[in-house]
Amino acid sequence: MPAKTLQDWKNTAATLAIEGRCFIDGDYRAAMDGRTFDKISPVEGRHLAAIARADAADVELAVAAARRAFDSGSWSRLAPVQRKRTLLRFAELIEAHAEELALLETLDMGKPIANALAADLPGTVNAMRWTAEAIDKVYGEVAATADDQLGLVTREAVGVVGIIVPWNFPLLMASWKFAPALAAGNSVVLKPSERSPLTAIRIAALASEAGIPDGVFNVLGGYGHEAGQALALHNDVDAIAFTGSTRIAKQLMIAAGQSNLKRVWTEAGGKSPNIVCADAPDLLQAAGSAAAAIAYNQGQVCTAGSRLLVQRSIKEEFLEHLRSALAGWAPGHPLDPVTRYGAMVDRQHVEQVRGFIQGAEEEGARLILGGEEGLAGESGCYLAPALFDGVHNGMRIAREEIFGAVLSVIDFDTPEEAVAIANDSPYGLAAALWTSDLSRAHRMARALRAGSVWVNQYSGGDMTAPFGGYKQSGNGRDRSLHAFDKYTELKATWIRL
Ligand code: NAD
Repeated sequence: MPAKTLQDWKNTAATLAIEGRCFIDGDYRAAMDGRTFDKISPVEGRHLAAIARADAADVELAVAAARRAFDSGSWSRLAPVQRKRTLLRFAELIEAHAEELALLETLDMGKPIANALAADLPGTVNAMRWTAEAIDKVYGEVAATADDQLGLVTREAVGVVGIIVPWNFPLLMASWKFAPALAAGNSVVLKPSERSPLTAIRIAALASEAGIPDGVFNVLGGYGHEAGQALALHNDVDAIAFTGSTRIAKQLMIAAGQSNLKRVWTEAGGKSPNIVCADAPDLLQAAGSAAAAIAYNQGQVCTAGSRLLVQRSIKEEFLEHLRSALAGWAPGHPLDPVTRYGAMVDRQHVEQVRGFIQGAEEEGARLILGGEEGLAGESGCYLAPALFDGVHNGMRIAREEIFGAVLSVIDFDTPEEAVAIANDSPYGLAAALWTSDLSRAHRMARALRAGSVWVNQYSGGDMTAPFGGYKQSGNGRDRSLHAFDKYTELKATWIRL
């Protein structure tokens, strides 16, 4: 079959039936009070769906269903191998609906359809398969006890898990959490962002079709804090797994303290440094990678390489390479298969990012490229990547997470100075460094206070290693076997022999 064109995708989008209701206890249903909110696409400003505006009453219903399902054992007490089979079927159904889900993702939040098809959907399916495959291969422990004792160390599902996710990789971020939560035997109430609820709502039906029992996988659309806050304050929710901003992460921890001290696992913001030493193996490649590190997904990436630290002796040469690399990230129509830089999530976010650009100029940083708004002939939310030179680490654009393609170039003289600047941040999600000196690479990687460190690349990694942050970038880890820690309690059972 020939590859789809922009027009093909537009035609499919025009005929797409989009579900906006909550999914509770195995059925789609309107919010209890019947309220909805409008989901408008940032792509062409089109009205996509009326989304059920779930609030505390709907949370009550979903949590009760999740608890009933958990207590019934219909899922929680299945043999791991049985849960594995069902999750693999769920992954297969998502794969079979990959084009529809990718299209929903693009219409919902503006990412290029090419990225949704090549990264978000395969990433989601892979996360689910990897996790499902793992669950019947993790064992408990036998403690090193005295001869008259048997000490068993086992992991048990925590119970009802509330999952609250952001809009930048809607399905992928959700899958990193619901896959291990479900695999471990928990019931889930998933709350997608009001800016991108469509795929989460859609896959609820696929979960049911795959054989996940009623009440085990619930999805609540909701506006702003309404449903999320009610979940975080609920006394019958055992854990919250959150990906989103540091500001909301802090509120969730307070809510846990105000209610039942539920476990709160947070994957929060970032302001990641990308350090290019003069002895980087390939400056051209490093520049291309630095451009992608800030421009991918329109800069709306938690690990965006937003602070580019360049050794002074190579700075002019590096900036030349960087300018040409960034020229390849001009905005395009997200449904055009050749586009690699799409629309921002909505108008409000465009304004917020533009505010940072303006503020940076007022603070004395030098805009050397980009930052223009709009795309010829289109009414959506477009903003070209912006490159700033003359930034110092105390400026607002170097300290705050912008969540848009705004790149700050900061000079340094020695690798020690670079590490000090890199670590001088409230965040600690990721860091990258480029050098040909093996010992320097190891020394710097050790010294960087970040959950992921990449050497001579940006954004490496897959399901085999944990992903999460130091400092105010959060406390939990997604991916790998470590992800199970968040969704299980550790039990010690002592048997006197
Ligand atoms: P956000 O914090 O505004 O919202 C995240 C989720 O929380 C949404 O579903 C939102 O509806 C919900 N929410 C809002 N207020 C709430 C409240 N008071 N109580 C409970 N829930 C509430 O973040 P966002 O704008 O959706 O996403 C961008 C942020 O996500 C950035 O900071 C980014 O760095 C972060 N992020 C982090 C990672 C990571 O793995 N560390 C990955 C992706 C995104």
